[in-house]
Order: sequence, then C-alpha cells, then structure tokens
Amino acid sequence: MIVLMQKDAAPAEIEAVIAAIEARGLRALNLPGGEHVAIGIASSIPPDLREPLASSLELLAGVDHIVHVSRPYKLASREFRRASTVVEVGGVRFGDAACVVIAGPCAVESRQQILESAAAVRAGGGCMLRGGAYKPRTSPYSFQGLHEEGLALLQEAGRESGLPTVTEVVDPHDVETVASRADMLQIGARNMQNYPLLIAVGRTSHPVLLKRGPSATIDELLFAAEYILNQGNQRVVLCERGVHPLDRAYTRNTLDLNAVPVLKEITHLPVIVDPSHGIGHARHVPAMSRAALAAGADGLIVEMHPRPREALSDGQQSLTPQQFAEMMESLRAVAGAVGRSIARPPEPASAA
Ligand code: PEP
Ligand code: MN
Repeated sequence: MIVLMQKDAAPAEIEAVIAAIEARGLRALNLPGGEHVAIGIASSIPPDLREPLASSLELLAGVDHIVHVSRPYKLASREFRRASTVVEVGGVRFGDAACVVIAGPCAVESRQQILESAAAVRAGGGCMLRGGAYKPRTSPYSFQGLHEEGLALLQEAGRESGLPTVTEVVDPHDVETVASRADMLQIGARNMQNYPLLIAVGRTSHPVLLKRGPSATIDELLFAAEYILNQGNQRVVLCERGVHPLDRAYTRNTLDLNAVPVLKEITHLPVIVDPSHGIGHARHVPAMSRAALAAGADGLIVEMHPRPREALSDGQQSLTPQQFAEMMESLRAVAGAVGRSIARPPEPASAA
C-alpha cells in the first residue's frame, strides 16, 4: 500500500501520515517524487489490517489517495509509479528518451590501459566508463582486480575523460570506499541475491546498476531491486546480462531480450542490457546491442579494451576501440528507427 500525498501537502501532514503508519507497528518510507510525496509501507501488512488502515489513512489531511499495489514487489512496480523513473549519474540520464551507452574494460588493469580505454569510450561516443576493480572470478587463480588501486585509477580516468564511472562492489564493507571513488555501484550477477550487499547499497544515495543473476527469474530480479528501494535508495537501474546458456558451445549465456519489454511493462525502473556477458563473443556483440535497443532497452553496457588479446579478463568478448566506434554508428540508426537517440557524453568541463 502506498499513500500518495497531495501536491501541496505540508511537511507536518506528511509526518502525521508516517506517524499513523508507525503507530501500527509498520515501517513507513518517505519517497519524494517529481510532484507528489509518496509514503510507502515497507512491511507486509496483515490482511485484516489492510482495509481499516487504508480507510483511516485516506481521511488524514494532505492525503490524495491510496494506491493498492498487487505485485509483491511494491516500490519497483509500475502500479506504484506509473511514469518511468529517470536515474541521473553525473549528468547522464538513464530512462530518458536517449539511450545510454556505457563502455570500458572488464577490469582495470593498469593506468595506461584505463586511460586509453576512457579516451576510446569518449571518442566513440560512449557516455560512461566501466571497469572492475573487484572481480568475482569463477576460479580463485584468475585475475581478481587491483582493488583500491584500481578504484583510484578508474576515478582518475573518469575525471580525465569527463565520463562518469561505474564499478562493481562485492562486499558490504567496501560500499563506502567504492562509492567515494565511483559514480555508480554495480551489483554483479553473482551477487544479485546477496541481501546484506543489497541492503548496504540501499542505505547509500549512490546510483546502483543491478545485474540479473544467471538463474534468476524476472520476479527475483525485481525483489532484489526492492531490497535496495526499500532502504530508501530510489536510484536503481536494472541490467539484463544473459541467463544460463542452452548452447555453451556457441554462446557464454543466453541473452534474455524477452526480459526487456516485460520489465519495461511491470517496473518504472530503467532497464539496460549487457550484450558482452550475454553472448560472450566480441564479433556478436554489435548485433545483440542493436537487438537490445530495438527491444526497448534504455541503454547498454559493453566491454571494450584497447588490446583485447592482452586483456586479463574477458578479452574474447571485448570490442576494440574501432569496433566500438563502428558499432555506435549502427546503434544511432537503430535508436532512430524506434523513436530514440543515443545519449551524448557529458561536456568535459562538467566533470572538472
Ligand atoms: C562484469 O561486468 O564484468 C561482470 C562480472 O558481469 P556479471 O556480473 O554480469 O557477470
Ligand atoms: Mn567481464
């Protein structure tokens, strides 16, 4: 249940609604929106309390109406917020008419590598820089990332290129450190159901890129998002990155583009696609990127490395800077064909 306040509701009226909810032992969440304040009830409401609670809240001063949300994930649902949410990250807007393209290497490997990558992202027309500093790898013998040194290098490359950055956080204890260095926190597929981590990023006000787990259903992805929203952080972008493959001989995962129109229908959160992990081979990434935008994705996150053959992780699925720039040209045509455009990178001066 969500209480939608009138446009001109006074702070004291909002407080009174929160107090009335809390008086019944429920947790109230103040959710400032574009025009109205909404107050969510972030607890499950016993069935016999639902009707009497709704009737009594409806009578309070400043209340516009009560929204009954039938989906089990309340705050992520489009029933709660009909208009699409726009998540802004350093001047880049996810969920707006223009599609956002994030690019960069799988992992930050060296100062030169990440600076070259950032320059190539900007030259090709990408909006944001990616690069992992903490790499959750299948094998403990694989490159694990440069950790804090990697974060500092990513931050330097972001500043130098004027591109906002996104990087993965794998441990709740590192959330503050990562948030102090990067503009957006990535929750990787392997951690989609790491609830302490979801709660920790939900307690920040930092934008979050939440990737779908390889065996997670769409509902499970939305419940994971709900963990973040329910802590008060509304800046969540969802990412489809492929589910367990039927045919590992040819594809690393199966990119579930079905999820894009389905998610756009049932949630107000922006949805982007990662075709690099989705298919796992650089030569097929441009086709799946075009398909993702045609399916209605709000953007893409793609791996690109200055020298993919030398990459310490995911080189086989990383585009070269030239392939990236060529792909961007073809994406402009597809975005135009579906009534969208490709977002421009922020002006370099804005990052200074
Ligand atoms: C990554 O983005 O490099 C990554 C590890 O992705 P995923 O969590 O989707 O496997
Ligand atoms: Mn990767």
